[in-house]
Amino acid sequence: MKVPIRTCVACRQPQPKKQLLRVVKTPQGEIKLDSTGRANGRGAYICNRAQCVQDAVKKKLFNRNFKMNIDDSVYTRLLEEYNEQKQN
Ligand SMILES: [Zn+2]
Repeated sequence: MKVPIRTCVACRQPQPKKQLLRVVKTPQGEIKLDSTGRANGRGAYICNRAQCVQDAVKKKLFNRNFKMNIDDSVYTRLLEEYNEQKQN
């Protein structure tokens, strides 16, 4: 079986989808961390590494993926969600 490969928005390394975090733009236009990996909407992928997550937030890398101007507060929340998930 072929493993689905996705590219991290931060470091641009192609990796098996399972090892990446998915960020989703919901049909309502909300940007959030998709912990199930199956939420409805357009997805972007990022390594499960603090370095990549911090880069994505600092450089607002999801703006390009989702073709919209994402608010700073959304990026801050993504980072918080990531940190919370890491503790679990
Ligand atoms: Zn990465």
